[in-house]
Amino acid sequence: MNLPLPITSAFASGSASASALHAALPKLCPCGGAPTAIKRKGAEAAFADCCGRYIVQAQLPPDALHLMRSRYTAFVLENEAYLLQTWQEANRPGQLEFDAGAKWLGLDIKDFVPTGLQEGQETAEVEFVARVRVAGKASRLHERSRFVCQDGRWLYVSGVNI
Ligand SMILES: [Zn+2]
Repeated sequence: MNLPLPITSAFASGSASASALHAALPKLCPCGGAPTAIKRKGAEAAFADCCGRYIVQAQLPPDALHLMRSRYTAFVLENEAYLLQTWQEANRPGQLEFDAGAKWLGLDIKDFVPTGLQEGQETAEVEFVARVRVAGKASRLHERSRFVCQDGRWLYVSGVNI
């Protein structure tokens, strides 16, 4: 499949150019809201009350689920700095590539599981589907992502496409 691959390890490296464009901050959060739970259908949240707390106000996401949502939102906003700073250093790409024609259609969280201590650090997994349209063609990215909490900060480790 030829997906634009956001937020995934497959997306990570070797891109030639990153878009310098940043979308204006939205009123409603692109992640779809439901800041304290797996998304309920039809739920909406203000950006400032949802992922904006982490992306703009620099609060720390309390768990991997909130981090996952905020990374999706950062991807929609083409906020490369936030995506890189929430990526575990060992797996972090040098830069990201944003598809200029991509229109993000939404995020669905399918699963969120704390997976306990590994090497003394809290870990968790989040499974999600992100939908995007590029040049009129809709596609979906279905990934199960792993996260680790280092020094109180949840970080994206890597993901497996499903
Ligand atoms: Zn959000």
